[in-house]
Formats: sequence, structure tokens, C-alpha cells
Amino acid sequence: MRTMLTQKFVVDSMLGKIARWLRIMGYDTLYSNDFEDWKILKIAETQKRIIITRDRGIYYRSLKRGLNCILLSPDSNIIQDLAFIALRSKIDLSVNINATRCPQCNSVLSKLSESMWLCPKCKKEYWKGRHWRTIEEIIIKANSELVKLETKNDSRGTGTDTGVKRRDRTVTNRNS
Ligand SMILES: [Zn+2]
Repeated sequence: MRTMLTQKFVVDSMLGKIARWLRIMGYDTLYSNDFEDWKILKIAETQKRIIITRDRGIYYRSLKRGLNCILLSPDSNIIQDLAFIALRSKIDLSVNINATRCPQCNSVLSKLSESMWLCPKCKKEYWKGRHWRTIEEIIIKANSELVKLETKNDSRGTGTDTGVKRRDRTVTNRNS
């Protein structure tokens, strides 16, 4: 499972919410709301990061350069977006509490207790409050959306397998 955290991302300046989610799940994610297109491409190229964007222009430019880029659809919600990112980048959609990063600055958080973390860089404290349940609910929904996408991708409308079966197989592959 740990090895999956090696995927690194650079996120388009329009997608701050997605950057925060990837960081919470423990993925090294660069984001700034003033990243220009050329800078995103350059970061992806030099640091071997996967680009995430809704911008077709960036998408085609990154393909031309042989970069790994995930193009989100223009009107998808956060659950659909996370599922699609997981499908394309093979990451696990789960919060690893020992690897979770500061949603603001991407630093790995230091654990203060079972339910409290501190960002060593911006000194912000995080705790498992009421919002934790919301985080878990969205992760669960995104995982079931991922099962749907995987089923659709594999069977192309002809399969009758259940999503659960598909998901089991995929998990096995990811761990091997
Ligand atoms: Zn921070």
C-alpha cells in the first residue's frame, strides 16, 4: 500500500480543492493559484509529476511533450474527479494517517496524538473533528465511483460482473 504513495502530482491553478484532497490522502502535490501553464509543464517534466487539469490546452501540450496528464471533464464533481484520478494514476483512495500532508502547504504532518497533527512548516494544527466523517464519506463514495469506472472500462458494456468482483481483482493487482 505504501508504495502507491510514490505517485506525485502537479495540479492546475484552477483545482485547489483537488490539491487539498490529494495532500490529505498523503500524495505529494504541488499547487499554486498563480501557476502558469508553462510552469506546470516544466514542473511535471523536471520532477516527474502527473499533471491534473480541466484545461484541454494544457492537456494536449503535455501529451506532445510525452508527459503524464489527467484531463478531468469540465463539469464533474469532487467524487467523480477523485475516482477518475485514481483510475488513471492507480493511486489508492484512502487516508493514510501516518503520511497525510498539510492541505495548505504539502508538508508531511507530524503526529501529536491519535487524533491530532501539526504542520512543521506553517505550524497549523489539525485534528479529527466533525469534518473527519465528511472526509471518510467522500472517500467511500469516490471508491464506489471508481468501481463503476473500472467496470465500464473493462467490460465496455458487455460484462455482467459485479463491481465488487472487479474491485477485488484490482486491489490484488495493486498489492502485487
Ligand atoms: Zn502546512
